[in-house]
Amino acid sequence: MTDTVLADTSTAPSEPPRERRIVTAIPGPKSQELHARRLKVVPPGVHSVLPVYIESAHDAILRDVDGNQFIDLGAGIGVTTVGHTQGPVVEAAKDQLDKFLHTLFTITPYESYVRVAELLAEHTPGDFEKRSVLVNSGAEAVENGVKIARKYTGRRAVAVLEHAYHGRTNLTMAMNFKAAPYATGFGPLAGDVFHAPSSYPFHDGLSGAEAAARTISYLEKHVGASDLAALVVEPIQGEGGFMVPAEGYLPALQEWASANGVVFIADEIQSGMGRTGAYFASEHFGLVPDLLLSAKGIAGGLPLAAVTGRAEIMDAAQPGGLGGTFGGNPVAAAASVAVFDLIERDGLLANAARIEKRLKAGLSAIAERFDIIGDIRGIGAMVAIELVQPGTASTTKAPNAAAVGALAAYAAENGVLILTAGTYGNVLRFLPSLAITDEQIDDALGVLADGFAAL
Ligand SMILES: *Cc1c(COP(=O)(O)O)cnc(C)c1O
Repeated sequence: MTDTVLADTSTAPSEPPRERRIVTAIPGPKSQELHARRLKVVPPGVHSVLPVYIESAHDAILRDVDGNQFIDLGAGIGVTTVGHTQGPVVEAAKDQLDKFLHTLFTITPYESYVRVAELLAEHTPGDFEKRSVLVNSGAEAVENGVKIARKYTGRRAVAVLEHAYHGRTNLTMAMNFKAAPYATGFGPLAGDVFHAPSSYPFHDGLSGAEAAARTISYLEKHVGASDLAALVVEPIQGEGGFMVPAEGYLPALQEWASANGVVFIADEIQSGMGRTGAYFASEHFGLVPDLLLSAKGIAGGLPLAAVTGRAEIMDAAQPGGLGGTFGGNPVAAAASVAVFDLIERDGLLANAARIEKRLKAGLSAIAERFDIIGDIRGIGAMVAIELVQPGTASTTKAPNAAAVGALAAYAAENGVLILTAGTYGNVLRFLPSLAITDEQIDDALGVLADGFAAL
């Protein structure tokens, strides 16, 4: 099967799409045709949230093969943070394509890898010497962070928090809070991973100090600091539902970790790279992680991830102990340098605050009309609402996953892509690109409000 239905001359593909437009049922006929082909060759374990097949994308708009245009409030799960197909990023990748595609940095190196490491050293928290290793995916960054922490400390155990998500490889599926769908049936899981209670202000009502005392007490009882190599935390949890920890929680954990020789690792794979209005969300909490993991947004859509950290920790790994065939691919590294440059050139970090204000104002107005919105939270272009059963917002806060499913489906049918999240599947998360306009936000929230009314 080599024929393609991707070219759609009726939608003037030379013009970048700028606004929401629905011209067929969702998914449209061409998407359905592609989906039928896909089902014969791609297993159901690889699931697509919205099986509309994409033809092009620009800024915060996705256009599918049927000519439908969606306001993208997901950015490929926080990857196209600077916007889809930004000129300088595309140009940098194209330039590199003409020069060379691969040498393997661990055989014959090249500058862009070094430049990305310099930029990460500059823009991650902490005024000390740092090193970075570049890899291909977030999960691979997590795996490497844990490897390095174990080597440095000579300790075995790894601690993570409830509601965490760290990936789909063997080690990381043991680090996730949710077994289904990430680990169910895929065991045996890696050992020596401990899931400590977290800070979830909407549900636990604890102050940061109380929540930290609970986490630390759990770790001291169940593991013991002397066996603990690393504590891995997402400063704002992603898949778990964008929980912003109570004030003081994260600094207390970091203080305990450093007092006990535990490597403090911030998984900023979703919260990083400008999404929250700082290069990394750790900054909002005064955190200076020993190791920081980045991926998703760091190369504008090309696959790249990194472990960045204190030189003395990073240097513990023996030569040849880190790396991989494609890690720090030259095209991805060139795009990443362009992403950093673009954030500076266009002052993109400032957009995050604008987006947060607009989203929260619109969502608050919707919450006044519909009492199933229990919580509105997040920082910058990382905002979520948690939906509860009617009348339970100040009592049991019983999760309402059905409403989340119905709203995401309504939004998609009307040209707005909104992702879900949450341990109980009852969170709608908004993580648009920093290029989204106020008009696009208002338009999307209008659709969402109609969705609430239609529930
Ligand atoms: C997406 C994500 C990962 C895994 O990244 P992949 O590139 O999908 O392997 C790990 N941690 C967090 C917080 C993530 O959001």
